[in-house]
Amino acid sequence: MNRDQIVILGTGFQLLVHQKVYCTWEAYRQIDKTAPEAFGILIGGKSLDNEQYKLVEITEPKAGDLCSRTHFILKDPGHQFIVNQRHVDSKGELAYLGTWHTHPEDVPYASMTDIDDWKKCVKRNLDRQLFFVIVGLKKMVLYYYNENGLNRIEF
Ligand SMILES: [Zn+2]
Repeated sequence: MNRDQIVILGTGFQLLVHQKVYCTWEAYRQIDKTAPEAFGILIGGKSLDNEQYKLVEITEPKAGDLCSRTHFILKDPGHQFIVNQRHVDSKGELAYLGTWHTHPEDVPYASMTDIDDWKKCVKRNLDRQLFFVIVGLKKMVLYYYNENGLNRIEF
């Protein structure tokens, strides 16, 4: 058991989530009745055979973003800045890997808005596998697309 990361088993791949990423998500759970929805970008890399992905960092809500209890609009350019910087610093190993956001429900399910948004993200990034995480009050969920469509894994 590696305590530095969480391993999520997908179909034909593993996603390794760094402990600090998981802890950050826990801190944004919308437990407080007035806590706003939080949203950010996933940054990570993959093995050459596409069998292992690692999620090493996430961006967090920033001053320039717009958020309410159930909505979030990423507006602050700081998110893209961080992704670009990590990409350069890692000599291309780390890149945009998807998005995460919170839901004020115990076990979160993707909304139609989420799915519409994810489909656009996938179309813009056909060169890579993307992941989408929803952080609920009790459970977190990983969504990803493969040849069978949209897949869902609770963790
Ligand atoms: Zn959502």
